[in-house]
Amino acid sequence: MSGKKQDSDYYVAERLIRKARQYRDAGSTACLERNRGLNQDGYTRISFGSDKRKRFAHRVIYERLVGSIPPGHCVLHSCDNRRCVNPLHLFTGTHQNNMDDMNSKGRGNYASGEQIPNSKLTAQQVSEIRRLTNDGYKQQELADQFGVNQTTISNLLRKRTWREVP
Ligand SMILES: [Zn+2]
Repeated sequence: MSGKKQDSDYYVAERLIRKARQYRDAGSTACLERNRGLNQDGYTRISFGSDKRKRFAHRVIYERLVGSIPPGHCVLHSCDNRRCVNPLHLFTGTHQNNMDDMNSKGRGNYASGEQIPNSKLTAQQVSEIRRLTNDGYKQQELADQFGVNQTTISNLLRKRTWREVP
């Protein structure tokens, strides 16, 4: 392919990075979805760099806007939305760590969770609430369903609380 193709790849990548930076700087809680270049697992990929190799967009964004990815670590989505490249929704961890956290750790293992007096929620419920929000549930509905008040829901969705939980 000619240099033209490479140039357009470059602009696509730079445009995405610019948009993701706006989300980061604005503290936007919304997902920034990219629906192009999806692989079979639903992750979005983008050609980036001179070798034209397709890379996972969320990894590119993380490296450019958040920090370096430790060797052997994955870039994970706090929002569980694989198409999302909002830098504020990305964090690094090993895949196994993530699974262990989700499956076996109770709320006591999360520092931010512990700091909440009389917390009624578990880490798994927090993850579930964040997922349900993406499905369109309203805060008050979730509050009723999980037996907490709406402020609790609002705080955990804004990551004022339970920051470590995906
Ligand atoms: Zn997201």
